[in-house]
Amino acid sequence: MQLAGKTALITGAAGGIGSAIARRFAQAGARLCLADLDRDAAQRVLEELQLQSDRAIALAMDVASEEQVTQAVDQAAAALGGIDVLVSNAGVQHLEAIADVSYADWRRIVSVHLDGGFLVTRACLRHMRAQGRGGSVLLMGSVHSHEASVLKGPYVVAKHGLAGLCRVVAKEGAAYGVRANLICPGFVRTPLVERQIPQLAQERGISERQVVQEVMLATTVDGEFTTVQDVAEVALFLAAFPSNALTGQSIVVSHGWHMV
Ligand code: NAD
Repeated sequence: MQLAGKTALITGAAGGIGSAIARRFAQAGARLCLADLDRDAAQRVLEELQLQSDRAIALAMDVASEEQVTQAVDQAAAALGGIDVLVSNAGVQHLEAIADVSYADWRRIVSVHLDGGFLVTRACLRHMRAQGRGGSVLLMGSVHSHEASVLKGPYVVAKHGLAGLCRVVAKEGAAYGVRANLICPGFVRTPLVERQIPQLAQERGISERQVVQEVMLATTVDGEFTTVQDVAEVALFLAAFPSNALTGQSIVVSHGWHMV
């Protein structure tokens, strides 16, 4: 029960990776706030976990809305006794070359990841600082925090930006015992990735099987997808780490696609 007595707020908690982290944190004894654009889907994750209402809530939150983020984080802290762990995980993807992408799509992708990462981190840091018991900020980066791929310009840029946010929060948060780390998964077979497979097949004029084998998994050591459970284990390890020794780091979980 590494997270017994801790409250964790997870954004994008209804999705593949977010819901797996919720399941793992629940097993580890955490109180949970599951936040998502789709509150009903977050509520279904909670119902599946069968947690009592004093241990878990589901909230609607668009991470790119300052007002919604502030309100939801304050509500979660009031209902669950503060915030000890943030998993800033909400994310979207858009496949188009830089030369073609519209400014609106650029802004939308960058805003969910970067504005969203900033807004939820700021709101949670304010609670962590006031509580005086430290905390752990986990930002969901990607191998694309370190590598570029074609057709993913806004996503790659935003995920690189999160590495900077992580390092700044690690430095500033140290004054009040908050550490910050970036989780960088390779391809994980969630809805976000399932949607890309037919799109990439069409863009590149290859089969969906080739997209998986020759694009997504070609440079892994074993041709395997990373799983949502793999990412959840890394999140638990980072959330529960007992000191500020592990801060400002980027942990890549990608079957060796990217080696640091
Ligand atoms: P997913 O599509 O299964 O889940 C994403 C969740 O985010 C959804 O529940 C969605 O409703 C929510 N969301 C989207 N926009 C939001 C917003 N504005 N406010 C609040 N919630 C919002 O995707 P996933 O694969 O679980 O992705 C989760 C995170 O992991 C993302 O940040 C993604 O970039 C990152 N990631 C995924 C992979 C992968 O291969 N799946 C790899 C590396 C990083």
